[in-house]
Amino acid sequence: MRIVALTFHDVVTKEESASSQADVFYRITTGELETVLSQLRRLGYQAANSKEFRVWQEARSNLSKRVVVLTFDDGYASHFESVAPLLLRYRFSGTFFVPAALVGRSGYMSWDQLRKLVFLGMEIGSHGLSHRPFTQLSRQQLDLELTGSKRLLEDNLGIPIRAIAAPGGFWSASVAEAVRRAGYEAAWVSTIGTNGPQTNPLALRRVVVRRPFSAERIVSMVEGWQPAFWWASSQQHTIQLLKRLLGVYRYEQLKRRLVPNA
Ligand SMILES: [Zn+2]
Repeated sequence: MRIVALTFHDVVTKEESASSQADVFYRITTGELETVLSQLRRLGYQAANSKEFRVWQEARSNLSKRVVVLTFDDGYASHFESVAPLLLRYRFSGTFFVPAALVGRSGYMSWDQLRKLVFLGMEIGSHGLSHRPFTQLSRQQLDLELTGSKRLLEDNLGIPIRAIAAPGGFWSASVAEAVRRAGYEAAWVSTIGTNGPQTNPLALRRVVVRRPFSAERIVSMVEGWQPAFWWASSQQHTIQLLKRLLGVYRYEQLKRRLVPNA
């Protein structure tokens, strides 16, 4: 069995979409998320969190036949206000990766909201302290991001934090080693693909949901339909190539022209 993990970012209503500061490529509407969740529910999927996934990986438990991992990055306020109610409506649990130093800031979830998510059975993981790419930090800075975020989340939420997601998907073997040293048991990156018993638990693959959005394509990826993965990786390659060719600033300008309401 192979398991697909999906990554979502900001999830907004149609009206909020015009004013949101979050990256326009990664922003979807509540209606779009609901379409994905209702289709997965109809197909009989259950959601696993990192811990359940790791236990399954080590063959210590059976998961249901159809399992998906639903992850939400960056700790946006919309995750408490819009995402959690939708997950509950369709009886899914979610994994929320939170930049610990941004908790309580305008547009982000508060500690109180995070504690409520824990109470509702959601998993909380670290997304570093301040959302800086792990690969661009000195060893000392990296250790601070890893252990500092873990401690801050554990102290405020009263639960062990064992999962982490890499900000921006930036990852390397030495980052993985530092993550292991800091006491994490599962690390999620942004490599497109599926996860099986042999997948490195410190480089678990996730498919980032982005524009142009298609619920059918996302659901077919969860179902393991290969051409949908090819489509997603060619899109990711195109974006990486454009960023390299244009530089990040001109890439952002182009994106604003291509995507309406940016
Ligand atoms: Zn992020």
